Amino acid sequence: MQTIYNTLGRQKQAFTTIEPGLVRMYVCGPTVYDYFHIGNARTFAAFDMVYRWLTATGYTVNFVRNITDIDDKIIERANANNEPMEALTARMTDAYFEDAARLKLLRPTNSPRATHHIDGMLAIIKQLEDKGMAYRASNGDVYYAVREFEGYGKLSGKNPDDLRAGERVAVESAKRDPLDFVLWKAAKPNEPQWPSIFGGGRPGWHIECSAMCRAELGDQIDIHGGGLDLQFPHHENEIAQTEGTFEKGSAGQFAKFWMHAAFLNIDHEKMSKSLGNFFTLREVLNKLDAVQGGETVRYFLLRGHYRSEINYSWDMLEDARQSLLGFYIALKETPAAEVKLDWANAYAQKFRVAMEDDFDTPAAFAVLHELRREVNRTRSGETAGLLRALGATLGFFQDSPAAFVQGAANTAQLDVDALVSERNAAKQRQDFTRADAIRKQLDAAGIVLEDKPGGLTEWRRK
Ligand code: AMP
Ligand code: ZN
Repeated sequence: MQTIYNTLGRQKQAFTTIEPGLVRMYVCGPTVYDYFHIGNARTFAAFDMVYRWLTATGYTVNFVRNITDIDDKIIERANANNEPMEALTARMTDAYFEDAARLKLLRPTNSPRATHHIDGMLAIIKQLEDKGMAYRASNGDVYYAVREFEGYGKLSGKNPDDLRAGERVAVESAKRDPLDFVLWKAAKPNEPQWPSIFGGGRPGWHIECSAMCRAELGDQIDIHGGGLDLQFPHHENEIAQTEGTFEKGSAGQFAKFWMHAAFLNIDHEKMSKSLGNFFTLREVLNKLDAVQGGETVRYFLLRGHYRSEINYSWDMLEDARQSLLGFYIALKETPAAEVKLDWANAYAQKFRVAMEDDFDTPAAFAVLHELRREVNRTRSGETAGLLRALGATLGFFQDSPAAFVQGAANTAQLDVDALVSERNAAKQRQDFTRADAIRKQLDAAGIVLEDKPGGLTEWRRK
């Protein structure tokens, strides 16, 4: 039985879906004003893992990850670049899909863009206004009236009165209550705007997710996800908006399960754009081996539990690469037989128990390591096939083992195959000085040679 730690209620709960066999999952996606960083990648990878795993165990998963293509940071950046906002967001959306693919993230079922859903946002705001849960303020903005929503704070566990006490109310604030948040911002010069019954303007941030979720999946979904930083206020506000449109007294719930991925840190601080302590996934991948890099970062991001913080460092990445390389070496030495995943198999069962326990990837990887050792001991193609099939449920070990272990390193400047043959020829004519020199040259370039029986030499990256 699958269990999921539900932020709503803060405990592991048995996972059940509204409709049998179907999972409706919405995850907050990137704000496309720049390349995404590896902290963002951590959250994206976590939900890609959830998507793959639920699919592997038989669910049909309708997975939506939105694209935020209108917001303050986008407007600022487009102005700074002196380019139209649409040009910036189109470029960064393409880059997001490219980088996501290098990390082996599956494409979500749908990737809606906020600017394509302005009408849906306005419809919700109008509904809220009709119910007295939204109001037009003196400055032309439209706000959500937090006092009118009884459950405010239920996700984050925050008490609205404590929150109010902590807010410094600006003297000229147009809000009725310090907790009220903006749904529609009145138009300002040099900002994009859309016409509406509330006057020209643009949406606040939170409303887009309620609207895209409704359009793609409906107002009641099974899983809503994002990084921990979104729990409050973003997700709290999404609940207020969507559930605010429900009938009074309705037992309806926006999302049954709320999942939050913990932070990726650097020097024990959250990696974030605003702190400036970030590396984009793109720059990290460009420094890694072109063949091994994507899966290496994926492995680094997923071998820890999604609710545990992870610390980014170059050493951790190299450690992940070595571990992943170990799997590929095992699969190269013992080619995998085509097997159909049999959940009754003892290893498969153990793996499944781990994953069904709130996606316990560290325990699941421990099973994969056991299998790797078993493959190395027995050289069984069937066992290798099982290893590969279990890896596939999380998006691992699907590359050609021969290509993966060699990587792309140095092959452009160095014809490794030619040097290896030259070394073998040197050995044959007993020119061990030359043979040794070639081995050293390759070693310095990060290539390890393995002499096999019959005079065959194989090579791989260190
Ligand atoms: P953004 O593009 O900033 O809206 O963020 C996209 C996603 O990445 C959101 O789900 C964030 O919660 C998540 N995120 C941002 N920074 C981190 C981090 N350091 N670690 C994990 N997730 C993060
Ligand atoms: Zn969102």
